[in-house]
Amino acid sequence: MVTLIDKRDGEAERTGEAPRHPEKAHRPDTPVLRKPAWIRVKAPGSAGYAGTAFIVRGNGLHTVCEEAGCPNIGECWEKKHATMMIMGDTCTRACAFCNVKTGIPGALDAVEPENVARAVATLGLNHVVVTSVDRDDLDDGGAAHFAATILAIRSAAPATTIEVLTPDFLKKGPRPLETVIAARPDVFNHNLETVPGLYLGIRPGARYFHSLRLLQRAKELDPTVFTKSGIMVGLGEKRNEVLQLMDDLRSADVDFLTIGQYLQPTRKHAAVDRFVEPAEFDSYKAHAYAKGFLMVASSPLTRSSYLAGDDFAKLKTARLAKTTHDAVNTV
Ligand code: SF4
Repeated sequence: MVTLIDKRDGEAERTGEAPRHPEKAHRPDTPVLRKPAWIRVKAPGSAGYAGTAFIVRGNGLHTVCEEAGCPNIGECWEKKHATMMIMGDTCTRACAFCNVKTGIPGALDAVEPENVARAVATLGLNHVVVTSVDRDDLDDGGAAHFAATILAIRSAAPATTIEVLTPDFLKKGPRPLETVIAARPDVFNHNLETVPGLYLGIRPGARYFHSLRLLQRAKELDPTVFTKSGIMVGLGEKRNEVLQLMDDLRSADVDFLTIGQYLQPTRKHAAVDRFVEPAEFDSYKAHAYAKGFLMVASSPLTRSSYLAGDDFAKLKTARLAKTTHDAVNTV
C-alpha cells in the first residue's frame, strides 16, 4: 500500500524550501477521512516502473502522474503509461483539489516538444496523453506549445495516437483552441472537474460554461476529433447535479466521460466530503451511457488518463458501431 497523502509539503517545511502551495500554506488543516477498503493501489517499485522513470528523467520531463501524486502511478508506469505534463511544473492557478505546485512559472523550454516526442518514441506508446500546467502568464495560454508538441510527436512516432488534456485558455488569444485543434490531436480532453455549484470553492479561477463551450467548440472546429471530459466525485456534489452535468456535456456533443473519486492530496486541500461507493460509480456509468456518451469510465480510481490507450480503442469502435447503426436506420 502507498499513502495517498502527499508528504512533499511537510518535507519543504522541514528543509526550509518554499512551500509547494504557498497560497494554501496558512489555511487551517482540513480533516482527512479514513479511506475505505475499495481504495487500494499498487505501490510503485517494479522494474517497469523504474524503466519509465529512467526515460522520463533522461528527457528532463515532468509528468502529471508524479506532480499530482496520482494513486495509479505504480500500475501505469509498470506498463510504461506516463502522462506528459508540459510547460513546466508550476501552475498559475490554485485549485483547491490539485496537488501540482503553484507559483510563478519559468520561461517555456523551446526543445520540450522534441524531448516529449523522443520519450514517447522510446517508450513505444500506442497512445499518449499530453497535459500541462495552467499558464495564465502566456498570451496564448500555451496553445502554440501544445500544437508544437503534437506535431513533434507525429513526426517522431507517427503510429502513436495523441490525446491532449488542456487548460481552459480563459481570456487567452488569439484563437488558442483553433491553434491546438489545427495540429489534429486524436482526442481533445478538458476536464470540468466538478459540478457548477462547487466551482467557487474548488475551481475558483475557472468558469463552468466557458469550459463547456470549449469542448463544444473543439468538436465544431473538427467534427472528427473525439472529445472527452472528466469529473471528480466526493466533493459535496449532489447526484442530480452530476446527472445535469452529463446532460450539459451531451449538449456539447462530448463523446467520453470519466468519473473518479476525489482524494485529498494534503491537509491544506479541500476535504473529501464522502467516499462514493463502487455501486454508485456503476450507476453513474449506466446513466451516462443512457444519455448517449460513446464511452464512460467510472470507478473510484478512474482518472482522466487512466487506461487512456485501451479506452481510446474502445471509443473508436463505439463511434464506428454508432455510425453504422445510424446509416442502417436512415436507409
Ligand atoms: S492515471 Fe494518468 S496520471 Fe495517474 S499514473 Fe496513470 S497515466 Fe499517470
